[in-house]
Amino acid sequence: MIQYALVCENTHQFEAWFRSAVAYDDQIKMGVVSCPICATSKVNKALMAPAVGRKGNSRSLEKNGDQEKSEGASVSLSAGHPEQKKLQQAIRQLREKITSEADYVGNKFASEARKIHDEKAEPRGIYGEATPEEAASLIEDGVEFMPLPALPEEQN
Ligand SMILES: [Zn+2]
Repeated sequence: MIQYALVCENTHQFEAWFRSAVAYDDQIKMGVVSCPICATSKVNKALMAPAVGRKGNSRSLEKNGDQEKSEGASVSLSAGHPEQKKLQQAIRQLREKITSEADYVGNKFASEARKIHDEKAEPRGIYGEATPEEAASLIEDGVEFMPLPALPEEQN
């Protein structure tokens, strides 16, 4: 399972789980992934970054209080899945592995990723933050990156 942070054409941000990157692609192509806020199926991956030290704010999300918050957040598949605990554990380990082995580049993620892609910088693991626009432009230019999964909120 992979969790992607997604953003719709109206810049609503939300998260969704997919069985795999391929499943994500398929579901996006089929248009079955839709924004929980405005229901458009024009959605894209948003951030490939951990939610650490997030400086910018994602104010694009116009919230109406907490209304339907939980429903909106679990767009797909496996909220409350029995494997959730295991999954959280796996995600935590993945995050730890990435954050311990990769260099944190903060909001320079896009430019650093591009430099590495263009072989202007030493290949290395990096992680950081990028705006949806930066992410989109990286994708356009064929720069590969992966979203660092966010930790699902602890549930009892
Ligand atoms: Zn939307």
